[in-house]
Amino acid sequence: MTTLDEHIDELDKMVVGGTSAPTIRSQIAFISREVAALEAELVRVNVDHANLKEAYLNLQAAQAEKEADPFTNFKGHRFKIGTNGESDGLVYCPNCPTPLSSGQPHLHLTCSKCNFISPKYGYFLPDLIKEAQEYVRAKKA
Ligand SMILES: [Zn+2]
Repeated sequence: MTTLDEHIDELDKMVVGGTSAPTIRSQIAFISREVAALEAELVRVNVDHANLKEAYLNLQAAQAEKEADPFTNFKGHRFKIGTNGESDGLVYCPNCPTPLSSGQPHLHLTCSKCNFISPKYGYFLPDLIKEAQEYVRAKKA
């Protein structure tokens, strides 16, 4: 494949060698078409680059979100709510990564590791999880 530089060198040789004006004009027209094609390709490459850069930044942001703190703080408790907006079904201690439990619905939720006692009772657990999911979904919207 002949490069643009080689076509320009050829043009230079035509000028130096006394080639006829119509032949030189034809070579100039050919080079002009080549430059226009390269400019169009540059525009296309720049658009592709911008699209790839945007996709890369979106992936980078998604990765950072994945690696971020998995907990959502809500009403004095912590929850793990995935990117799909669904909870893992547990309420976590605000002080350590331990799920809270009450043993009985009428007892306070407590942490078996640090002895945190929640003001909420066991029967609040499903509503608390539902509210936390709604909180996260509303934050994303
Ligand atoms: Zn704890």
